This record gives sequence, C-alpha cells and structure tokens, in this order.
Amino acid sequence: MAITRKPDFSNLTSMGVGGRPQELYEPESFGEFCELLAVLDDPFILGGGCNTIFPDGNFSRPVIRTKKLGKLHVEEDGRVYAEAGVGINRIIRQTVTAGLRGLEQLAGIPGTVGGGTAMNAGNGPDACFGNYIKKLHVIAPGAGSVETIDSAEVPWRYRNWGMNDADAGGAGSWIVVAVEMELEPGNVSELRAEMERCERRKADNQPLNEASSGCMFKNPGAGPSAGKLVESCGLKGLREGGASVSGMHANFIVNSERHASSEDVKRLMERVIGQVYEQTGCQLEPEVVFARDLAFV
Ligand SMILES: Cc1cc2nc3c(=O)[nH]c(=O)nc-3n(C[C@H](O)[C@H](O)[C@H](O)COP(=O)(O)OP(=O)(O)OC[C@H]3O[C@@H](n4cnc5c(N)ncnc54)[C@H](O)[C@@H]3O)c2cc1C
Repeated sequence: MAITRKPDFSNLTSMGVGGRPQELYEPESFGEFCELLAVLDDPFILGGGCNTIFPDGNFSRPVIRTKKLGKLHVEEDGRVYAEAGVGINRIIRQTVTAGLRGLEQLAGIPGTVGGGTAMNAGNGPDACFGNYIKKLHVIAPGAGSVETIDSAEVPWRYRNWGMNDADAGGAGSWIVVAVEMELEPGNVSELRAEMERCERRKADNQPLNEASSGCMFKNPGAGPSAGKLVESCGLKGLREGGASVSGMHANFIVNSERHASSEDVKRLMERVIGQVYEQTGCQLEPEVVFARDLAFV
C-alpha cells in the first residue's frame, strides 16, 4: 500500500486549494482498507477530489484515497461490477462501448465511483448515479469487514446518498468499496451520440479549463437554478483573493491562476450566499463538501 507523508491537497483536488494532511493512504484491497479503518483515527475518505475542499494549513485527519481500488467488470448481459476508485468516465465509456444503457447521461462528470455514489452525482434531478446501482459493497461504521446491501436500503437524496454526514470518514461513517449494476441493452451508436452530446453541453457551458469543484451550490427545489440566481444577482466575476465566480457559469467558483486559498473559496461562497439571500430571499446550500477539521471550524 502506498503511504505518502504530507502530500499537497492542491494536487489531490480539482479546486487545487488546501494544505496538507499528515498522511495519505492508498489501499489496494478491501482487506487493506479494513485494516486501515481499524487503526486510523477519524480518517477522511477521498475519491477523485472533484467535489471536496480541504482547509488551508495542516489537516489533522489521515486521508484514505480509493484510487487503487480500480477493478471494473462489464458483462455482456448488463451486469457491471466497479470498485470505488474506478473513474466515472471510465465506467461510462466501457458500458457505452458494450451497448449498455443508462450511464451515458452522466458523461462528463469527473470523479470516482465511490464519490459518485456518496454524492449521488448526476445530470439534473433525474439522471443520478444511484438510480443505476443495484447492490453496494460497503463497510459499516465501526465494522471490520465488507458487507453487501441492496440499493433499496440506501436513502438516496439529491446529491447525497444519505448514509453519512457530508464529510464522510472515521468510525461513524459508511464507506463504499464497490457497486454492482444491472444495465439494459441499448444501441451503441445512439448511446455514444448521447454521451458525446452530454460532454459537449458541459464543454460549451462550463469553465472546464479552470480549476474548480463543479457546481458549488445545490439547485433549489423549485424556481431558477442556483447558477441563474447567482447570475441574476450580478455576481459573475465577484472575487475573494484568488477565487472568483466564473464568468461562464455562475454556479462555478474558479481558481483560475491556481493561487486561491481554501479560505478565499469559503469567504466567496459566504458572500454569494449572503447576496443571493438579500436580493432574492433564497437560501443557497453548498453542494461541495468541506472536509471537517478542528483547524477549519
Ligand atoms: C468540472 C466539474 C464538473 C462537475 N459536474 C458535475 C455534474 O454535472 N453533476 C454532479 O453531480 N457533480 C459534478 N461535479 C462534482 C463531482 O464531479 C461529483 O460530485 C463526483 O461524484 C465527485 O466524485 P469524487 O470521487 O471526486 O468525490 P470526492 O470529492 O473525492 O468526495 C466527495 C464526497 O464523497 C465522499 N466519498 C468519496 N469516496 C467515498 C467512498 N468510497 N465511500 C464513502 N464516501 C466517499 C468523500 O468523503 C466526500 O464527502 C463536477 C465537478 C467538476 C470539477
């Protein structure tokens, strides 16, 4: 198992901000994962880091990254088995190529199967990762082994699987180590066209060349989207230190020159929430996960 001392969070997350944890562990098997959970105090579980912001400075919790749990099996009959560290775009490409329908609608969402499950990542309110999962291989809070649960036992919500607080990790958290799906057959060229359409739409509307965590705020249940609200309040371009509200998509905060701090991002989010509330009465909620640490509360 790889153990890295004091790695730089700015290389571990897509926003490119944050300080350093004492240690980063990368288990290569479920057994190693369980062993780590038995000995580490309050670890933070990290997938691709595409929706996570760590605090500046030292991070006292150890971090376990799932990247090396990368087994993916796609069967002709539609059964799919993917470990937590498999890239979301890898599972999409492989199922589309195999002529299996469903995941093509999520094309362009970065991150891992574990993060995609925990965030119930998706495209709009209907096409969500959790919709396609049949079974989950999980480690229950405090357990020393992996168990299998049905998707029906998971209280799926909008952009959250509902099993943990937002900052998963530690003895009190459920952890995904793998998922199983059963996908229906589809026409490969139609699936590929849909996958490419989704990717193009993202490239046309989102600042994909700049460091970000994707959408920072959840869409309110009714009315305009979070991005439309932020834009209607004239907040595009609003800046705190190195972080700014994207001029291309108002629900993105970007770290364009890669010198923003975590505090810049947090302060900018607070200003956006305050101004949107003042002008529209709508209370925006963060979609992005702030990794909890005593140094950051
Ligand atoms: C450019 C861009 C575009 C994006 N577009 C979208 C979009 O269209 N739709 C969307 O929903 N999201 C989008 N996102 C956000 C992000 O891609 C998703 O939330 C994705 O699911 C995050 O996966 P990850 O592996 O990077 O998660 P991480 O950021 O590593 O983790 C996110 C959360 O999941 C927890 N977690 C991670 N792995 C596990 C595990 N194995 N078990 C339990 N908990 C775990 C972490 O502790 C953390 O709380 C976008 C992000 C970017 C940068």
